[in-house]
Amino acid sequence: MKYDIPTEVQDTVSVLWAKGYQAYVVGGCVRDLFLGKKPKDWDIATSAKPEEIQQIFPASFYENKFFTVTVHTESEDPTLKEIEITTFRADIAYGDRRHPEQIEYAKTIEEDLARRDFTMNAIALHAKDKEVEVLDPFAGQRDIEAKTIRAVGDPDQRFQEDALRMMRAVRFFATLGFTIEPATRKAIEKHSALIREISQERIRDEFIKILMSDAPMEALEELRQLGLLSHFLPELEEGYGVGQNKHHIYTVWEHNVRSLQYAARQKQDLIVRLASLLHDVAKPRVKQGEGPDSTFYGHQVVGAKMTKKILERLKFPKEVVETVSLLVREHMFVYDPETVTLKGVRRLLARVGTEHIDELFQLREADRIGSGVPKAQPYRLRYLKAMVDKVRQDPISPKMLKINGDTIMETLKIGPGPKIGAILAILLEDVLDDPALNTKEYLEKRVFELAKLSEQELEDMAAKAKQSAQLTQDRVDEELKKKYFVQ
Ligand code: ATP
Ligand code: MG
Repeated sequence: MKYDIPTEVQDTVSVLWAKGYQAYVVGGCVRDLFLGKKPKDWDIATSAKPEEIQQIFPASFYENKFFTVTVHTESEDPTLKEIEITTFRADIAYGDRRHPEQIEYAKTIEEDLARRDFTMNAIALHAKDKEVEVLDPFAGQRDIEAKTIRAVGDPDQRFQEDALRMMRAVRFFATLGFTIEPATRKAIEKHSALIREISQERIRDEFIKILMSDAPMEALEELRQLGLLSHFLPELEEGYGVGQNKHHIYTVWEHNVRSLQYAARQKQDLIVRLASLLHDVAKPRVKQGEGPDSTFYGHQVVGAKMTKKILERLKFPKEVVETVSLLVREHMFVYDPETVTLKGVRRLLARVGTEHIDELFQLREADRIGSGVPKAQPYRLRYLKAMVDKVRQDPISPKMLKINGDTIMETLKIGPGPKIGAILAILLEDVLDDPALNTKEYLEKRVFELAKLSEQELEDMAAKAKQSAQLTQDRVDEELKKKYFVQ
């Protein structure tokens, strides 16, 4: 057979026809077959109503919202474990451009195909036992061959019906390497503001697919040119046309997207890609001066705050929000062998966490390559990595101290309170300076000493201890400013 339709899919379709219904293989899997790619999942469109599908396939699950029944198969192949069967749908009235107000059943596959987004996604296969008939009323095959993204029917109308389709167009641009044809482009440019009416979650899901593609740089440029970016990520667009200082050859915008592209080339995960894209997002806001001597002091701190706000707005999970903004905050770490000390590296590790230090290095590498000026030599980064490996086992958090809050309370015969936290912070500071001090004997002795201090004195010392990690960084930032301006 010319089209490689798996037995499970073929059987499902055949059963529906045998019961007197129409059934076609449709959507992304058909497009993927024409592209010679293995489909990630299989969709079937049918004239059978959801209740009827369920009766035929008892091992199925009905998602009311989309008229979609998910049929479970015995297949070992994860792409075939579930097959989605959706009843033919007609043109829908999209009141708020998010949710179809009412979904109507269609009678024919042609009607169903007409309400799909792009021609490449509007091809149906009629899989008979021995041959496959292609139904392609909108010349989707021609567009697939020409690598063209073209709206089905009138593009203006299609994007007004469902503005998410504009994001989907760019997503397919990114993932398939297709180009958006002129009339479809024009319609997106015209209606780009409608994306504001789409839920942040749906925008985020398409945005993630764009970021995780092999060509996120071009796709971001496309989002900007089409006018979509300014509606869901205006902060990033602020860097467009903003020049940097003598240590850079690219504008802020170019640098950000180039860093992202490098992260993608290295096959980095979503966290590193987001951090690479956003690490300099604050530069336009903190820029001082113009030309070769302009500066961007504090951009990592402002950037971390902006990043948090952006990712929260886009409803990214808390873990993603926290980690990416942490990486943005810390991306300026020093890796100059003359400046870096083991103590400094321990503090860096304490701030970033052993679980995120590799991501921080990946971000920095993307930052470096994305700057287009390979002035920061890779051996320096390797040197720092070696130092991190050296201190990885060292105590860098209160949990890793050879004494804990309970023991301190017992030793001093006092109850819980701020005093305990203060003592722990001071002890950690000692141990960050010198890991050899992490012994029960030393720490207990130190606890007795500290207990003699007044509450106020203790508090002051603890505050200083907590700050000192930051102070080290600030001192180093000062040196950085003098030495390199800000990278
Ligand atoms: P993927 O490879 O990511 O699964 P896909 O093309 O299969 O891509 P889905 O979101 O799974 O995308 O949608 C399946 C099909 O449903 C599409 O191919 C398209 O025909 C149709 N479709 C999906 N979303 C829309 C939409 N917003 N408007 C119109 N048709 C849509
Ligand atoms: Mg799909």
